[in-house]
Amino acid sequence: MQGKTALVTGSTSGIGAAMAAAFAAEGANIVINGLGDAADIEKGRAALEADYGVSVLYHGADMTKPDEIADMVRAAEDRFGSVDVLVNNAGIQHTDPIEDFPVDRWNAVIAINLSSAFHTMRAALPGMQKRGWGRIINIASAHGIVASVNKSAYVAAKHGIVGLTKVAALENAQSGVTCNAICPGWVKTPLVVAQIEARAEKNGTSIERETQALLLEKQPSGQFTTVEQLAGAAVFLCSEAASNMTGTTMTLDGGWTAQ
Ligand code: NAD
Repeated sequence: MQGKTALVTGSTSGIGAAMAAAFAAEGANIVINGLGDAADIEKGRAALEADYGVSVLYHGADMTKPDEIADMVRAAEDRFGSVDVLVNNAGIQHTDPIEDFPVDRWNAVIAINLSSAFHTMRAALPGMQKRGWGRIINIASAHGIVASVNKSAYVAAKHGIVGLTKVAALENAQSGVTCNAICPGWVKTPLVVAQIEARAEKNGTSIERETQALLLEKQPSGQFTTVEQLAGAAVFLCSEAASNMTGTTMTLDGGWTAQ
């Protein structure tokens, strides 16, 4: 992927950080984005450059702010000349039954997990179309295919991004730009660790017990999907072998959605 630029939203942690590293290992220049401590982010950015000999730009666009998102894509194109690979990965979770779901949490989940992908695509697609090559990868979820209780905003956003993926694929079917979704099952990142901790506190049990319960409830393999496996899937979607693959979902969920 030398000479190409990959922009990964929400890449200061978890799945996004692993994808940024995987694209850097393939020789792409990288734009990282996300929240966190400024010194930690700079350390991560510099480490990517040193480890892989590529150029890495950090942009702190807040995924709830369309203007900042447009500025991020512009800054990436100014610095590197193009955004060739766009990974819409930033995401948050909130769990509550619908009747108790705080309106501001609904708005935040929909903005970060769904609308931000519309805004990044809107800004990045013209350049991809002009160059005749682009890869858009939307990080959906098993919750883009099936539902669970207490996750109304998350499930709505993830089903929404699967639909958005299909529309982008159709609109660009002859342009050299593909758009696909990756649907992970449980992955042990801060987003899921927080849910395990909340369950342990609510049920008065241990982290180990709730980890097992969480996996057994949904994921038949009994194993977490790893961030490295997901990064491998993203790299595959950018390969020649995937060039006629568009508008689809790749599930890496240990059998969750086969049930
Ligand atoms: P994570 O909490 O480790 O990372 C989330 C990233 O999003 C962080 O870099 C964070 O800073 C960023 N982010 C959050 N709010 C933001 C905002 N307003 N503006 C910019 N960046 C923001 O979580 P993760 O598990 O790596 O999740 C990444 C994606 O994978 C999410 O879309 C999530 O829904 C999806 N996913 C995760 C799992 C899982 O089990 N962990 C399963 C399925 C799907």
